[in-house]
Amino acid sequence: MKKRLSRVVRQAHVLFAAEHFSRRVALYFHDLVPEYVGAFRDAVATFLELGYATVDPSEYAQDASDASRKLFVSFDDNYRSWFEALEIFDDLGIQCTFYVNTCPFRDVASRSTIDAYFDRIRYTGDRTPLSRSELRAISDAGHNIGCHTHTHFRLSGLPKEKWFEEIDSCKALLEDIVGHGVSDFSFPFGMRRHFSAPLRRYCRDLGFRTIATAIPAQLYAPHVDPFFIHRTGWKFDRPYTENLQNLKLDARMFGAAFGRSAIG
Ligand SMILES: [Zn+2]
Repeated sequence: MKKRLSRVVRQAHVLFAAEHFSRRVALYFHDLVPEYVGAFRDAVATFLELGYATVDPSEYAQDASDASRKLFVSFDDNYRSWFEALEIFDDLGIQCTFYVNTCPFRDVASRSTIDAYFDRIRYTGDRTPLSRSELRAISDAGHNIGCHTHTHFRLSGLPKEKWFEEIDSCKALLEDIVGHGVSDFSFPFGMRRHFSAPLRRYCRDLGFRTIATAIPAQLYAPHVDPFFIHRTGWKFDRPYTENLQNLKLDARMFGAAFGRSAIG
């Protein structure tokens, strides 16, 4: 969507923003470089102070009949900065979920593979991915590890023969590293048009318990499909207040009609 149109769509939703946050708030981030650590702390602390507790994907997806306030903090892709932030997570007392691409582990991948990976996700910051032992340390610290495919291709554009190497192999590699089952998935790019009903069946048959999307402003949806977790991205380059406001928007109708983000 064009930038100006995006702003107009977002503003239209702001007019009808909810007064209070939903009882379940699912966020996603990407890298966590030092300059954004303060903003990350502020984002998470806002919800902790309101009585939210961080949960893993299964707990988040459970029936909404209980009145507890749940915060799902997740990260996508593959960045060494996650490992460097372990003390920060510890200090905040939060459990996070990391959806990991397995092709760029830096103790295995060549520089050209790593660069092709970061080109694909258009990341121009510090291009240092995790090593496998750093991922194991993140898992050992009590965080949850999920699958984000092997190479971060758009799954809806791939022939079915490629699903195995993108999804099954990512899952198997992660399970080998962390030493236990991996049963949560987030698909690359995260919008409805990047996934499909056959892919959903495939993932379910493979044993995934939850699938996280990047479809924002769906937090007020009634709890009808515990398989999907709709997450809203926190944008470090945008003001804190704008990010908080995004979490009070309800773009279910817009998202269903246009398959695109209502918050730009
Ligand atoms: Zn991604």
